[in-house]
Amino acid sequence: MLSQVVELIENKNSFAITTHVRPDGDGVGSSLGLCWLLKSLGKEAEVIVRDEIPPSYRQLPGADEIRKVSSIDREYDAVFVIECSNIDRPGIEKLEEQFVVNIDHHATCENFGTINWIDATASAVGEMIYNLCKAIGGRVSKEIAECVYMALVTDTGSFHFPNTTERTLKVASELVKVGVQPSRISEAVYNSYSWSRVALLQRVLATARRDTTGRIALMRQTLEMVEETGAVDGDNNGFVNMPLVAKEIVAAVYMREVQPGTYRVSLRSKGPINVARVAESFGGGGHKNAAGFRISGDWDEVESEIENRLKKAIEIAAESDPALEIESEYTLA
Ligand code: 5GP
Ligand code: MN
Repeated sequence: MLSQVVELIENKNSFAITTHVRPDGDGVGSSLGLCWLLKSLGKEAEVIVRDEIPPSYRQLPGADEIRKVSSIDREYDAVFVIECSNIDRPGIEKLEEQFVVNIDHHATCENFGTINWIDATASAVGEMIYNLCKAIGGRVSKEIAECVYMALVTDTGSFHFPNTTERTLKVASELVKVGVQPSRISEAVYNSYSWSRVALLQRVLATARRDTTGRIALMRQTLEMVEETGAVDGDNNGFVNMPLVAKEIVAAVYMREVQPGTYRVSLRSKGPINVARVAESFGGGGHKNAAGFRISGDWDEVESEIENRLKKAIEIAAESDPALEIESEYTLA
């Protein structure tokens, strides 16, 4: 919990911070934000990750100093593991031998750390880093603010998803007060891709279809599409959300072929429909409205099984929210 994290930081000196493979805005932003906080307290700290930092996040202060590692290669008093459901998610060897501090905002997170601070009410781990900064009596510098803002804006879909709370907006407001320019961060995140993203979107959208109930949308991204367009990691960011623009669509499935017969599946939903439960039933996890997992098998068969389990999730949600059954009265939570 938070008080243990504060005590640890006060009593120890050298820290590493890491996050999951294929890091996202919350992973990178929160890790860098925490790194700046630790340094401002006179501690030794560095961010280590296994994979490349995607271009959108490279402009964050401190991003140039992130070290790419595949194994722990020096001594630390403790290693902070940000936004990971288990100890294997960072993809870094010998991590399990360290004093691990697990910081996450996913309810499905395992307690794999020596210290575990999980706050499922936080929109992003970034929000938790801000809280930590306040709890430890640190100053929210412009560097910390930019990193934390990046975490918030990416994990809330620009303050648009249901995880956006009064506290999220209050924190964002504080960050702008200390110098964050929201438009600069948004430009870096949303308007700095290559044409390959547009070309990929064209192909992916052509596969969009609805299930028989008309409430679930499904899209596919094949290996061939990636080859044809020269798309790179991250070019498909946010594509899964696109069918949700249709009012009647309450759940979306995005299946990305990662090798022949193996897929990364992203699920999204509106309001009370819990896709984290569906993802868990396939061995994955996530949040109520955004979750994912990996699966192998025949494409059509896998897809129809996902469809069936999603239909059940919609039925369960409809029991507590009858509005779900009446399309015209359905509103976003
Ligand atoms: P995305 O669809 O953007 O990859 O993931 C959406 C959410 O689900 C993220 O919060 C992510 O952490 C979680 N998620 C995605 N895939 C997995 C998975 O395989 N295991 C777990 N535990 N969570 C996942
Ligand atoms: Mn997050």
